Amino acid sequence: MVEGAIDRVLFSEKDIAEKVEELGKQITKDYKGKDLLLVCVLKGGILFMSDLSKKIDLPLKMDFIAVSSYGDSTVSSGVVKILKDLDTSIEGKDVLIVEDIIDSGLTLKYLLGNLKTRKPASLKVCTLLDKPKRRTVDLTPEYCGFSIENHFVVGYGLDFMQMFRNVPYVFIPKQEYVDKMQSS
Ligand code: 5GP
Ligand code: MG
Ligand code: MG
Repeated sequence: MVEGAIDRVLFSEKDIAEKVEELGKQITKDYKGKDLLLVCVLKGGILFMSDLSKKIDLPLKMDFIAVSSYGDSTVSSGVVKILKDLDTSIEGKDVLIVEDIIDSGLTLKYLLGNLKTRKPASLKVCTLLDKPKRRTVDLTPEYCGFSIENHFVVGYGLDFMQMFRNVPYVFIPKQEYVDKMQSS
């Protein structure tokens, strides 16, 4: 049961749907006539990219990259590894990275540096959630759904120990639940 793990729902399905629609409209405007490639950062970006792409009224393409920086911990190790690279070249493309959340910014900084060397026409970031106060590197996403305080959040793509990605809203898990799972 999901309910037993929830401390507080931060963003409901409705909150998210409204924000996704707004972002989709803005991106549609900004990328008109461009060669848009959405790059989903797996696994966390999967639900967001799926919904967002349906609200972008343009002939876009999609690709997927998987990076790892956390393991099963709730804090960043700062070590970034590409687990699955893009299938296609991004040279000359207008690349928009779709992320679930930016915390320290270390993952994205690494990713931006890596993708920049592949000569895209443009390279921007769309994140559902942002924790600007947690930033340890200088990085501001061009598109952001919600800025949040320093909470560990779960749902809508975001996991806790690989679970809860399918939950259609974003919530803060109960501390007792997190402690119990991490000690077992
Ligand atoms: P950063 O490198 O910016 O510190 O962390 C980026 C990645 O860490 C995110 O893409 C996400 O996978 C994970 N992460 C950061 N904060 C949270 C959080 O509050 N909840 C969850 N589930 N994952 C997070
Ligand atoms: Mg992510
Ligand atoms: Mg994770």
